[in-house]
Amino acid sequence: MYLHDPASPTPRAARPATTHASGVLWAPQGGWASAAGSLKRLMDQHGSAALCLVHLDASGLQRVQELVGSDSGEMVLAELVSRAARASQAGPWIALMVARVGRHEFVALFGADSAHLGVDDLLKVMGRPIDGAVLGSDALLTLGCAFAPPGQPTDLVANARAALEVARLRGPGSGLVFDPSRTELYCRTERMEGLLATAIKTRVGLSIDYQPVVARADVPGGPGYTLHAVEALARWRCAELGKVSPAEFIPVAESAGLISPLGRQVMDGACNFFKVLERLPGAPVLLSVNVSAAQLTHMGVVADFVGIVRTAGLWPKQVQLEITESIAVRGLRARDLLCAFKAAGFRIALDDFGTGYSSLAYLNELPIDTVKIDRSFVSEMESSPYHRAIVESTIRLAAVLGLDTTAEGVETEFQAEVLTELGCKHLQGSLFSMPLSEPAMRLWLAGVALRGLQTGKDPHTDRNGQV
Ligand code: C2E
Ligand code: CA
Ligand code: CA
Repeated sequence: MYLHDPASPTPRAARPATTHASGVLWAPQGGWASAAGSLKRLMDQHGSAALCLVHLDASGLQRVQELVGSDSGEMVLAELVSRAARASQAGPWIALMVARVGRHEFVALFGADSAHLGVDDLLKVMGRPIDGAVLGSDALLTLGCAFAPPGQPTDLVANARAALEVARLRGPGSGLVFDPSRTELYCRTERMEGLLATAIKTRVGLSIDYQPVVARADVPGGPGYTLHAVEALARWRCAELGKVSPAEFIPVAESAGLISPLGRQVMDGACNFFKVLERLPGAPVLLSVNVSAAQLTHMGVVADFVGIVRTAGLWPKQVQLEITESIAVRGLRARDLLCAFKAAGFRIALDDFGTGYSSLAYLNELPIDTVKIDRSFVSEMESSPYHRAIVESTIRLAAVLGLDTTAEGVETEFQAEVLTELGCKHLQGSLFSMPLSEPAMRLWLAGVALRGLQTGKDPHTDRNGQV
């Protein structure tokens, strides 16, 4: 079972991988029961060294087995043993053991004088797909890895296994190193990925709030505001985790490959609700929906979105896609996609403008209609001449280029006045309303039809727009 015989004095004395054929280097059918005992013994024995446990899942192996008609696990194990030996010869990590612990699962334990040194090389060697020449068809390896500093190997097995679980959620071929400084977040993220996947599948706990975007207008009694658009914002109330902010679950959805189904649901739900709003007095003219870069991976999304919009009885020109600057810097494919969305009739807004890879050049280069000035600039405008100057120059440049501007996070009358004076057409923020649930949005609209659009905090709603 051992690549390195635990009885031998130093790991460097590990026998070459070729000897695995003798049957002493690994236990092909041993499973966890026998591997766990050996692992523990080795960890105790090498407690003064840094340890690294790699837990591998040979995805696709089942398919290979079906094709080849035999148990290819042994071939994978032999390949892993020789990889471990190669890694031992090249870097500071010495293979202590390689074992098969399940039908498609393997572990490899390494020891070194100091943790993390040369670990990228180690993982690169261990995680490469097993090439078709060995198995008749490529088998992708998914990999979870954990380190233990000298003398503290306690959670190594559990941590490597947890890392593998998350890597599996990310898809075959992924690798993840357990980060002990982020244990809480890591476990939460891990749980969240599974729970979010279930929520998307069952449609339980996910909803959409709508935040008004207003336009300055002459209304009865003098200058005031009318409703221009609503921005759809995803919400998730999870039975286990409680209310989770989109600032937390959207990045999780993106990294777990869940953003496309989630984004489709948001687009679908928002279009259907917008159709309901359309029939009410004072209805908005535009529906704004946030789109992540990770959703724009293939041209098919354009037809997909057109289909959703048309099925709901709307036209693409009624829908604005809010993208961030990170999409803008993603290169040609994203640009082509944005052009295709424009050609299909959608409006495009550049969200959170001023943050990230901010470049005024994007305003000219990308097919956008609206610039959304980030909340951080609006909130600092009163106290910081620098922020005010950025807001001012953005609005001016946008006007020269024929683009609209929307200011986000408008919280005070003063900000609204200054922004309007500077020529900002559309305003959004708690001064008008925080995001509202569907029933609250209907009530808000009915109130506007009755009393006009009031600024300031509505006594009937809290900051989250809950009635
Ligand atoms: P965002 O697109 O910049 O949305 C505006 C955020 O600012 C919202 O936070 C909104 O509740 C908050 N906000 C609006 N006005 C004010 C204000 O006056 N003061 C303060 N303090 N906050 C204000 P929320 O709903 O938590 O959304 C956070 C982010 O999550 C969004 O930022 C957006 O980037 C992302 N997001 C939300 N829903 C979706 C979605 O369906 N798809 C994608 N891809 N991203 C989404
Ligand atoms: Ca937005
Ligand atoms: Ca924004």
